[in-house]
Amino acid sequence: MSQDCLFCKIVKGEIPSEFVYQDEHCVAFTDINPQAPTHVLVIPRTHVASLDESSNNEKALLGHLLLAAAEIARQNGFAKNGYRTVINTNDDGGQTVFHLHVHLLGGRKFIFPPG
Ligand code: AMP
Ligand code: ZN
Repeated sequence: MSQDCLFCKIVKGEIPSEFVYQDEHCVAFTDINPQAPTHVLVIPRTHVASLDESSNNEKALLGHLLLAAAEIARQNGFAKNGYRTVINTNDDGGQTVFHLHVHLLGGRKFIFPPG
């Protein structure tokens, strides 16, 4: 845990947030500035700053986050239509919160490449 990390505070319940999914390794909640009808952030319970800061120690955790996103997409009924998962990394990647998170966006059509 990192004391000043916003998402660690959400994990600990110090900042109120409604989890749309949670398990032993991760929690998921709606993005405060949603970019799609469903926009959920899937984050590990442990503090990992970014994909760039991840190592082999996080190998299983990274897979777990993606599988959790897929499960949330099924639960929300848009898995078959499709969805977008995004991990922004560091400055050029547009990362603003340095606690690893997978964006899960669904409920509309997305274009590629993103801007
Ligand atoms: P990124 O830019 O990839 O680091 O994504 C960070 C995301 O966190 C942005 O989409 C923000 O809208 C979102 N965000 C920031 N603060 C909160 C919060 N308190 N609750 C939910 N989402 C948040
Ligand atoms: Zn954190």
